[in-house]
This record gives sequence, structure tokens and C-alpha cells, in this order.
Amino acid sequence: MKENGFLSRRDFLKLLTLGNAISIPLEAEAHIYPIIKRIRYSSTSERTRIVFDCSGKVEKNWIKTHLRGNVLWITVRNTRTNYMKRKLKSNLVKEVKVYPINRRLVRIKVTMKEPHKFKIFALKAHCGRPFRLVVDVFPDFLTTSCPVKHYPKRIVVIDPGHGGKDPGAIWPIHSSHPIIKEKNITLAISLRVRRILKQYPNIKVVMTRTRDVYVPLLKRAEIAAKACADAFVSIHADSMPKYPNWNGVTVFKASPRLFAKAESMAKVVAKKVKLCNDVMCWSISPLLLNMSTTVTFVESSRLAESIVNSLKAHVNDDLVNGIRDMHRNIVVLKTPGRPAVLIETGFITNPLDRKRLVQSWYQEKLARGIAKGIVNYFHSMEKVAYKFSSEVDYTLEDS
Ligand SMILES: [Zn+2]
Repeated sequence: MKENGFLSRRDFLKLLTLGNAISIPLEAEAHIYPIIKRIRYSSTSERTRIVFDCSGKVEKNWIKTHLRGNVLWITVRNTRTNYMKRKLKSNLVKEVKVYPINRRLVRIKVTMKEPHKFKIFALKAHCGRPFRLVVDVFPDFLTTSCPVKHYPKRIVVIDPGHGGKDPGAIWPIHSSHPIIKEKNITLAISLRVRRILKQYPNIKVVMTRTRDVYVPLLKRAEIAAKACADAFVSIHADSMPKYPNWNGVTVFKASPRLFAKAESMAKVVAKKVKLCNDVMCWSISPLLLNMSTTVTFVESSRLAESIVNSLKAHVNDDLVNGIRDMHRNIVVLKTPGRPAVLIETGFITNPLDRKRLVQSWYQEKLARGIAKGIVNYFHSMEKVAYKFSSEVDYTLEDS
């Protein structure tokens, strides 16, 4: 741009037309105001993260946001930039533009495909990474309201645990080619549950997966929310290598205490909370946790009770461990405002359970127990909701 320290005529004219804001090289004031240098992004089905690499720290109180329709406007004070534009290959966000307004004001325009939830925060430079301004965009499914039902049809989401790249519990434990994988057992039982429930005209079954595919946990919650499910039943198989004599079916529901704890923790870390045990991890976003405070624990208990009672009638009584609260390290995947349970159908680490769990006769017994438990729960719901109505009929259509 400069020739012997002087501006050429063309550059001088360019400066005049571009205006004062960009005329002074940004680096010259980099020590005073941070500069937004680059737009990066990453995208998954559950989140699009837009990262603005900055030359210095952007303070929280410099940022103001305004959501108008599909467009999120972000104004950042005490910050500078050059004009930048980036089109995104994302399910949630179309495009990002960064405008320099003046020497210490930047405006960012995030155009989303639909109005979504968003979160904005700054990250410090560390491990060779620069200071960053981060905008996370989440799908808005959590706030979609369900229509009031005028017909007594109940919707249940059956969630076969794990799948695809995530095998869940395996046997033998330290083998690179395990013979038994939890993901296959959970799918087999779940498909049987669906087949049985399909015979009931007043029950609609929605599956989180019907094949051996990986489905992220938030995606599973989204499926339940979008389906406006009346119940969420996650099916798993347990593993307890230290206690090979542990066996049987256990139905878990989230304990309110744990839930409150996870919620406050999520607020502190303001990130996804990952709670793991030996076998599985439940990652929960604070957004999801906030929405889930309305979940009725009473309903989850009633659903769990109904399934346990039914399992006792279908499977050997000794094999039904009953209901447990999810304490300590595990949290059941919560769907906003809906009763949810997680069924551990048996222990892959127990020789007898392991043998049973892969056999179709036992899978069928478990499936019948679970399905009937769901039917009975819905039936009891109708008794409460339609006490004086005789329209509801949960008898089998053809069997
Ligand atoms: Zn599992």
C-alpha cells in the first residue's frame, strides 16, 4: 500500500471511499483493542459452534446480543475487525458476517435457518490457541410446545442404548473382538417391544434408532421432544466386572437430588456436563437441564413401577431387582417434561445373564414385560385424565 512512506493516489482514493474505520492498519491498535481475525466453525446435528479468533481478550460486558427472527445480531464494543463473511455448511446456521462499524465497534450478523437457541462466551488464549469469541447455536426443539391432544393416543419413545461406533458394554471385556455387544442386545429387545406395542391402536411407538447406527444423546432427546412423547424408555444392559455375581433387571429413574446437583453444576461450568460410570456417559447440556426442571418425578416413578410390576409377571421374580434412583455418577437422559426411565436388562458380566440376554426367548420375555408395563402405565394415565370417559381402549386389536 505504501510507496516510500507515501500513499499512492489510488490508495488515497481507496481510503477516502472506505472511510476512516479501516484506514488505519488494525495491528497498529492491537495492543489497545482486540481484533477479530478469523471465523471458524464446526457443526454437528446438535450444535453449530462459530469461533471468532481474536488478538486479545474480549470482555463479557462488551458484548450485546439481539435476536430478530432468524438473525442474531451481536455487537462487540472495544473491538476491531475487517469485513468478513463465511457461508456455513450447517443444519442450523446459513451465514456469518462481521462488519467493522468504527474503530472500536464490531457488529456480527449470524443468519440462522430458523430461530434457534444460542449462547455466546469468550475463551482465553491457551495451549497455542488464540483468544476466542464463541457462539454456540442449538436446535430449538426444546422449546417447541406440544399440541393439546384431543384424542387419547399415547406416544412412547423407545431408545435402544448405544449403537454404531459406540458398542456399550462388551464381552469379553478386554477383547478387541468382543462376542457380545450391548448395542445389539438393546436393539433386539427394543425392536421386540415396538412389535408388541404396535398391536395397540392407541399407542404410537417412536424409535431413536432401528439400525446399528450411532445416535448422539442430545439427538435422542430431540427425537423424544419432537415426538411430543408421553414416555421415554431407554433400554440398556449393564456391566460390573468387579461383581460378576450381580445379575437381573433394574429400572432406573433420575433422583431429584442428583438432578438438582447436575443442574447447579451445569450452571457453573456453563458447558456440557459429562457424567460417566464404567460403562456409559451421559452428556447433558445446561440448556437441556434447565428445561427439564419441569419433569414430573412422580410420573417417572409411576412409569418405573408399572414396568417393574409387569417384568415380575413375565420374567422370573428373582431376576427383577426393582427400581433404583440414579445416584452418584449416572444421570438418566431427561426429556423435558416427560417421564423417563432407563432399563438395565441384565449384566453382561454375569455368566447366566450373558447367556440369557442373547437368546431370543429371553429377549421376548423382557420385551413383553417392558411393553405391558408401558401399556399399563398409559392405562393408568387415562384413568386419571379421562376418569369419566369410556372412549379409551387399550385392549389388543388382534391377538
Ligand atoms: Zn448402556
